[in-house]
Amino acid sequence: MKTALLIKEWTATVERWRCNKKKIGFVPTMGALHEGHVSLIRTARQECDKVVVSIFVNPKQFGPNEDFEAYPRDLKKDSKLLINEKVDLLVVPTVDEMYPPGFGVDISVDESLTQTLCGLSRPDHFNGVATVVTKLLNITKAHRAYFGQKDYQQSIVIKRLASDLNSGTDIVVCPTVREQDGLAKSSRNAYLSESERLAAPTIYQALKLAEGMLQVGERNPQDLIDAVRKCLNNEPLFEVEYIAAKNAETLEDLKILDGNILVAVAVKLGQARLIDNVVIEVGAGS
Ligand code: AMP
Repeated sequence: MKTALLIKEWTATVERWRCNKKKIGFVPTMGALHEGHVSLIRTARQECDKVVVSIFVNPKQFGPNEDFEAYPRDLKKDSKLLINEKVDLLVVPTVDEMYPPGFGVDISVDESLTQTLCGLSRPDHFNGVATVVTKLLNITKAHRAYFGQKDYQQSIVIKRLASDLNSGTDIVVCPTVREQDGLAKSSRNAYLSESERLAAPTIYQALKLAEGMLQVGERNPQDLIDAVRKCLNNEPLFEVEYIAAKNAETLEDLKILDGNILVAVAVKLGQARLIDNVVIEVGAGS
């Protein structure tokens, strides 16, 4: 596996692959890799000739009181995992390399997508994500880029920016990988204490409850949200940030749950802020 720290090395490698008609798959990450990341890499490996993984903890997507400094970083361990997965190129740019002095662009995506759900408590987060992902896509010129459903709102924001800015990269969204007890794998699970870790699977149980309710005909969003809240409130360690049931494409609120429904939650648990979601297709008459 080749590792590039500089954008010019990264560009030179992908240009060569492009000239040789190689299909390039790209998996952007912030490192502290786990099986969720691995599933994206394996999908890219199956679908593409060359796989590029980036590790960059992007300061622009962290708020002033968030965990940018504390975010887990272990490049040695990550590199080993990526070698095992037969990744072709790992790119690890520094903050200065990505945002040199004088950097003056901030990509802003439609507020209907960015100022709802996680954007309510993290107002600059998705524009920070959009800015870095635009840059990463421009440099990598991949045919496909892989993202996880776990960060559902992020995947919608990125699909919009890739489409509206004609990035030339197809955005592929892969299913959420979970622990055996249902907790979505996340680099931030490392922040959980033993008792918090035991409580955490209740998040997925609450989402499964919502899924079950939708499957047996619940169409009232407030009743669904109330039931999810009741389930989450059983867990005294949880501080619920939001529970939402929305149109899964537009992220709009619905009067009647019909079509492709996103049920999403965010919960503070000790030092960790955990998010998770399910997407369920329902028909008004079913
Ligand atoms: P991160 O390193 O947290 O920025 O995540 C990098 C990519 O991995 C994003 O597209 C995430 O949505 C995806 N990802 C993170 N956790 C999971 C998971 N449990 N299952 C699937 N994809 C995930």
